[in-house]
Amino acid sequence: HFGFQDGLSESEKTERVAGVFHSVAESYDRMNDLMSFGWHRIWKDHFVSSLNPGLSSSLPPRPQRVLDVAGGTGDIAFRMLHHAHVVNHNPDVHVTISDINGSMLAVGKQRSLKLPASQQAALSFLEADATSIPPSVVPDNTFDLYTVAFGIRNFSNVPAALAEAYRVLKPGGVFACLEFSKVNSSLLDAVYKRWSFAAIPLIGQLVAGDRDSYQYLVESIERFPSQPDFRRMIREAGFEVGGQGWEDLTGGVAAIHKGMKP
Ligand code: SAM
Repeated sequence: HFGFQDGLSESEKTERVAGVFHSVAESYDRMNDLMSFGWHRIWKDHFVSSLNPGLSSSLPPRPQRVLDVAGGTGDIAFRMLHHAHVVNHNPDVHVTISDINGSMLAVGKQRSLKLPASQQAALSFLEADATSIPPSVVPDNTFDLYTVAFGIRNFSNVPAALAEAYRVLKPGGVFACLEFSKVNSSLLDAVYKRWSFAAIPLIGQLVAGDRDSYQYLVESIERFPSQPDFRRMIREAGFEVGGQGWEDLTGGVAAIHKGMKP
């Protein structure tokens, strides 16, 4: 069959993706739970605690600036703030949620009103395309940590996004990505493919009234590079990647990749 994005130019792809997220913004959080059986919450919790934002050995604690790209409705940013401010007692951690899509950011802004005032004050929003963040808005060497969760596979140009991540991070800053990935057992892969190709578009149709957008989301997971290929791309962008370079979650259904700007 033909893919959702076959034969499209880069800007047409970006527009198509924008359309998908405009139409799913309202139902997005509920659909995440349904589609992943709630697993995405566990992966996100693990992602954030593995990054341990706000950790500092000095007193007063070192300030940190975090950029959560494709931050959508705030799932990662809110966890970052909670971990830094409450778990690590470091109120000097600021998080910027950036997303290409105003509808997703609007849902995130609305949700952020439930956060404690000190966390709301440490949060800002930026509407920007991850593949070309205007240097006038985000100068080089600005952030200590760049996170992107379930976003990068939607970008029309992944190397361009990695180059931007490199640009906006300070030397010593960390790039961290949580994304659907390649399952490492053939049995799990068979079950997973059946689930994602048959059930997810159907659930999308029934719950959100939008089969095509969820069909696109499934196809974008299939197209995304394998763990070692993505690690190579991160290295090619200039990052140092230690150890194996990634961590598989739930048998590779998702994976975390990290790199450091030297
Ligand atoms: N990070 C959030 C999470 O984990 O729940 C949201 C993930 S959501 C699946 C993907 C997000 O990527 C959407 O909010 C979409 O608008 C955003 N996005 C897609 N293309 C983008 C781009 N080129 N630049 C920035 N954000 C983009």
